[in-house]
Amino acid sequence: MVSRRLRAGLSLVKTLFVVSLWFSLFATRQLAAQSAAPVTLVKAARLLDPRTGHFLAPAAVLVEDGKIKKVGAPAEVQAPSGALVIDLGSATLLPGLIDGHTHLLLSVVIPPEEERKRHLNPFFAPADLLAIVESPTKRAFQGAQNAREYLESGITTIRILGHSGIDGDTELRDAINAGRVPGPRILAAGRKLITRGDYLQNLNPALADAILNQEFLFIDGADRARAAVRQNVFQNVDVIKVTADVNLTVPELAAAVEEAHRNQLKIAVHAAEKAAIQTAIEAGADSIEHGNEATDEQLKQIRSKGIFFDLTPTAYGGFFLKIMEPSVVLSPEARSARAESSARRDKEYDQLVQRVLKSGVKFAAGTDMCWFWAGKTCGQASVITLLNLRAAGMPALDVIRAITVNAAEMLGWQDKVGAIEPGRFADLVAVAGDPVSDITELERVRFVMKNGEVVRNDLAPR
Ligand SMILES: [Zn+2]
Repeated sequence: MVSRRLRAGLSLVKTLFVVSLWFSLFATRQLAAQSAAPVTLVKAARLLDPRTGHFLAPAAVLVEDGKIKKVGAPAEVQAPSGALVIDLGSATLLPGLIDGHTHLLLSVVIPPEEERKRHLNPFFAPADLLAIVESPTKRAFQGAQNAREYLESGITTIRILGHSGIDGDTELRDAINAGRVPGPRILAAGRKLITRGDYLQNLNPALADAILNQEFLFIDGADRARAAVRQNVFQNVDVIKVTADVNLTVPELAAAVEEAHRNQLKIAVHAAEKAAIQTAIEAGADSIEHGNEATDEQLKQIRSKGIFFDLTPTAYGGFFLKIMEPSVVLSPEARSARAESSARRDKEYDQLVQRVLKSGVKFAAGTDMCWFWAGKTCGQASVITLLNLRAAGMPALDVIRAITVNAAEMLGWQDKVGAIEPGRFADLVAVAGDPVSDITELERVRFVMKNGEVVRNDLAPR
């Protein structure tokens, strides 16, 4: 618990920070005013509203001070004199994309087969351990590169749900907000709350806690769960992330939920297996991450409790074979075994997607992206992963909803992002074709605007 005196001290620091930020913003704005118009009019042949599925054609969006001021037909939305006009021609505008589940400060290179045989959790653990013990500065630069690649691919808002070291995600968020590096809006979870024994095993007992504390906060009883949430609150996180496994009890998770909610934070719970999903439901999670083994009965409970289902179609479509193929030698036996298990899991995922849609639960999507894919940027890999939902049988409009309007609600940012309407941040993307008839258009985003500033424009001269 933060003491009253410490709170008072912190609020003084905050006040000073806000005052100095105001001065620096004022100075920046004075400079910006010389080079860019404060008001921008974006015109395009069509604008998709993911909520209704309707297109506005043709469309104009007036942007002022980083926010959307007006949306309508070009005849109704006039640009004041001096405004910058961006005409995107025959393109389709839609809201900036949202990835509800990322790990930007991790880039796992899958080890060769022979090495994998010698580890527990072999796909993930060696690279996670290396990331923890290597230089945090190196890791921060990796995060900054991934953030830029995300933004360039049209993903303008993300949640980072762990694996960022002690403060990598909150610092990256603040660096982006301060304009030091380009990247999406970030909701940061800080350190992930886990029970002992998750993720990394067989560590040197003399060093284990020192290593694990760099990446995780332990839950060991309800009091420790509350303390872990408070530790993250002190670090000014935006969301709490907990991994539920068989070792986590309902009272422990419920304590974390209560403490998060007391601090007006949502709590995202990794739960893939049936028992963990039940723990997350009973403890009152705000979102269930992955949820792969959810039963129909559990989906009913998830719906009645208003919990979000955050689908992560990461492994779909032979993802691991695809990312391994360019660099990892695979024996023919290992390749065919993996192809077989991948095809089996895809079928199960197809069924999960249909069951989720039928159940009426609120759903969004995330990539769980922490994997290195040679030849793809982190942003490209992420968009391809999100679109796996279409291959798994989700209608294109629902996929777009999952990564715009629905995701915004899951984040608690439904008044800030996820739709193109007055008052929300001016985060827009444009594609050349119709993303509803061909969802792969989203892999070829041609225009990105974040906060009213153009990140890329391959469609028209600025
Ligand atoms: Zn994850």
